Amino acid sequence: MFKALVLEQQDKKTIASIRTLDDSDLPQGDVTVAVEYSSLNYKDGLAITGKSPVVRQWPMVPGIDFAGTVIESHDDRYQKGDEVVLTGWGVGEGHWGGMAEKARVSSDWLVPMPKGLSARSTMMIGTAGLTAMLCVMALEDAGITPEMGEILVTGASGGVGSVSISLLAALGYKAVAVTGRPENSDMLTELGASRVIARNELEERGRPLEKQLWAGAIDIAGSNILARLLGQIHYGGAVAACGLAAGFDLPTTVMPFILRGVKLLGVDSVMCPRKRRMEAWKRLAELLPSDFSAQACKEVALEEVLQLGEDITNGQVTGRVIIKP
Ligand code: NDP
Repeated sequence: MFKALVLEQQDKKTIASIRTLDDSDLPQGDVTVAVEYSSLNYKDGLAITGKSPVVRQWPMVPGIDFAGTVIESHDDRYQKGDEVVLTGWGVGEGHWGGMAEKARVSSDWLVPMPKGLSARSTMMIGTAGLTAMLCVMALEDAGITPEMGEILVTGASGGVGSVSISLLAALGYKAVAVTGRPENSDMLTELGASRVIARNELEERGRPLEKQLWAGAIDIAGSNILARLLGQIHYGGAVAACGLAAGFDLPTTVMPFILRGVKLLGVDSVMCPRKRRMEAWKRLAELLPSDFSAQACKEVALEEVLQLGEDITNGQVTGRVIIKP
């Protein structure tokens, strides 16, 4: 028997409750994991509240990422006792996820515990942190180096934003934090932001091309904010876009692309190939400062997730939240 957060649908409404399940309830998969930690991501908030149709099958155990220890394996790559991490692959959306004491998944979706990290520290980083690393790698691949100028990071108080700032600072970039919550400015500076600007400076529509302010950007917002910052990127600069916190539209023009050679780089962590994921985890282990968790993470019990799911969809969660099932 094991404890899990279970989502069900009644009259098109999502009902979330903590339940005790039996091993025979677990979905198909060749590896069973004792989950030590899961984490709370924006997408989990959407699943738990039902605010967006991310759940594709009912009942569902949410949790798009988890870390733990293998308790049963039918794949030679994993043995009982191995520590593993999972992010993405539709887990917590179309296959039961990490907000439970046990999970059963496909071995192809797992990665071995990165050297130097633990179940707890990988979930402090979580899908949000992995995505932040993939965004930084996308900017590096586009040739953006620290001497070229400042890098703008939107949604700075959130999961992707806060880890992006720590990573950029660790690599010697000047990261400028964009936040709608000025009360978080001190925390953002402590994480490594060189300065903080107000989100509303970017929310209004701008001209197709504005003064060139940023060598690059990591954007979690989309919509008007992404459109506005594209017009402010240096000639030859790049933007890694991974989110839709402000909306999934993009009301822009081709001007930044055709007159300034600006590159818009899409970043996806869910189906990211295993090799690149393992490279990203290795770099996270090397780059994130050891005090990152104390500055930007908190631990909660499964019972607290019901309220936090609502909070994260309202932009009210700061930093990363890890869940002890
Ligand atoms: P969080 O909720 O932790 O952070 C989002 C932050 O965005 C908030 O903390 C807030 O920061 C800011 N924000 C909130 N509302 C708005 C708004 N209307 N306009 C602009 N900014 C806003 O979420 P995550 O960091 O986990 O995820 C961020 C985004 O990235 C989400 O859209 C998520 O779906 C996406 N994502 C994509 C992934 C991928 O693989 N492509 C993987 C992981 C996440 P502040 O108060 O500082 O402004």
